[in-house]
Amino acid sequence: MNDDKRKMHSGKVVKRMLRDKARFGVLAGLMTLLPSTVAAQTSENQAGEGGSFRFTEMDCQPEQTTFRLLAPWTAKGVKVRIYSSGQGGKALKTVNMKRTEEKDVWAATVKGNLMGRYYTFDTGKGETPGVFAKAVGVNGQRAAIVNMVNTDPDDWCCDRHPVIKSPADLVVYELHHRDFSVGRSEAKHPGKFLALTEPWAIDHLKQLGVNAVHILPSYDYGSVDETRLDQPQYNWGYDPVNYNVPEGGYSTDPYDPTARIREFKQMVQALHNAGIAVILDVVYNHTYDIDHSNFQRTYPDYYYRKNADGTYSNGSGCGNETASERKMMRRFMVESVKYWYNEYRVDGFRFDLMGCHDIETMNLIRQELNKLNPSIFIYGEGWSAGQCALPTEQLGLKANISQMPGIAAFSDELRDGLRGPFDNDAQGAFLAGLPGYEESLKFGIVGAISHPQVDMTKVNYTKKAWAAEPTQMMSYVSCHDDMCLVDRLQASIPGIGEEELIRLDLLAQTAVMTSQGVPFMLSGEELLRSKQGVHNSFESPDSINRLCWENKERYPQVFKYYCDLISLRRHHPAFRLGDAHLVRKHLEFLDAPKGVVAYRLKDYAGRDDWRNIIVILNSTREQQQVNIPKAMYVVVCQDGEINEQSKSKIFGRRAVVNPQSALIMYEE
Ligand code: CA
Repeated sequence: MNDDKRKMHSGKVVKRMLRDKARFGVLAGLMTLLPSTVAAQTSENQAGEGGSFRFTEMDCQPEQTTFRLLAPWTAKGVKVRIYSSGQGGKALKTVNMKRTEEKDVWAATVKGNLMGRYYTFDTGKGETPGVFAKAVGVNGQRAAIVNMVNTDPDDWCCDRHPVIKSPADLVVYELHHRDFSVGRSEAKHPGKFLALTEPWAIDHLKQLGVNAVHILPSYDYGSVDETRLDQPQYNWGYDPVNYNVPEGGYSTDPYDPTARIREFKQMVQALHNAGIAVILDVVYNHTYDIDHSNFQRTYPDYYYRKNADGTYSNGSGCGNETASERKMMRRFMVESVKYWYNEYRVDGFRFDLMGCHDIETMNLIRQELNKLNPSIFIYGEGWSAGQCALPTEQLGLKANISQMPGIAAFSDELRDGLRGPFDNDAQGAFLAGLPGYEESLKFGIVGAISHPQVDMTKVNYTKKAWAAEPTQMMSYVSCHDDMCLVDRLQASIPGIGEEELIRLDLLAQTAVMTSQGVPFMLSGEELLRSKQGVHNSFESPDSINRLCWENKERYPQVFKYYCDLISLRRHHPAFRLGDAHLVRKHLEFLDAPKGVVAYRLKDYAGRDDWRNIIVILNSTREQQQVNIPKAMYVVVCQDGEINEQSKSKIFGRRAVVNPQSALIMYEE
């Protein structure tokens, strides 16, 4: 494929996707209220529906290699070609594949030792490495035959998953490989998987206290040309090509099929050694395009949904949407996540546009992963970027999350209740000191469950508590999409100065990190990150996206607050009860003025050492007072500083909280 064309196209689709995704962020919450107007696609192609094909497309033995491919029996002249390199040159061999006894499964056996060779399939739609290549050459054009055992780093067999008892114990840090390391002067491998093995990176994450890293798409994607890595290129990577192979642009040598695999494992190993879980961003909901996709080139139209009129449905906003409800697409997704767990030992999955997938598939994934390890964490975006060709009641939308136990969704209620709506960067909300967002915050604080003191009629976007358990809600104020927190505060609060900016930044993250949901932060927020006002930086240069490491020294109070805040959460189980009944039992909101949210975690919640904890979030520019049960309190968070060992005490029935800050104290 013409790589320039591919890149341009990708930029366009991703831009469109994000614009539409924002638009449907709210609509997705309302969708289940509406009857579906789109008929579910009925399939004429029933690919291997009765078969047991599990996407093992290549089995290499010393004497011979067997290839198997899912493709229509009606296809003509299905071939496999063997090459000596990952790109260019003529095929060493072209072998016709034959129909097997299993419907729609084709096979061929090639004699001789093919280790180190490359291959493609051809069903007449253009060459493809297949849908389940496990190793590829440069730019993922040809599958590679490698011995996976040789890709294991030293001591890989000793690798252990971090122990995560409950998702509520996680603090998730979302990063893009290039953002994180490209601006760090001592990085030996800037922008690569290996950067996350380097001491400065590990030390930073440990210092901050996060225990899970969510890496933006790290499978092989199309929008960075791996043959031109000497030139600056940037993309988030939401344009999947090979789902089951790490991205070559993040390896030290994209021409060596084993390098990306080994280095990905080294990254997992280094993070695991530091007690940090690795969560993979998986984008099964769409492919880069239809015609060139491995799905389409092997089994045309099987993997995609169509509208009743025969056009391709576009629930992803990228021109297509995959059909998770179909047997082999469903099985593909299940096999793919199991493979990433088994081969790469990742600890969790973040599903892009989970609202495009059907509930049954998401639940099957949960069940299958439970068999491997029940603590594998699954969450996703509970919305789509357009209308899907499947009834909304069948989709993995936020509003349907109670039907998906063990799966979490992002809360746009808390996010937008704090920073303002997704469709208008200039509009603020709670952080801007505007009244009317208190109930949305409360909804986020309890973890999107029903709570007798949360008035759902006053919550933004959703009028019904959607989570059955608080661990089904991702608590956040910013992620890679939209403006980062600093930029959003600057855009929505005219004339904001640096001091006010910092106060509000810390206040926002206090709401996130003390929420009963699963806390999540965008990397660099701890360094007061700015993307210079760029709303959608999916292909912006390094100058926009890179973390500004100098800020760690420039704003030490910000970094310290983030560290202390995360530490506070991790030391105190009251903030992460992980159970809806316990939250309703122990979390009690207190009456508070407009622009202030106050609550109490009472009676040694979660067996906390602290009997009663009071949290007050004041977004106004004035000092505020909140009535509290009369007692002696130890103040541990005040005015942008946290100290769990504090000796500072107050006595009385009234708490005074300074402007634009959080007050946290416990009853002695
Ligand atoms: Ca790639």
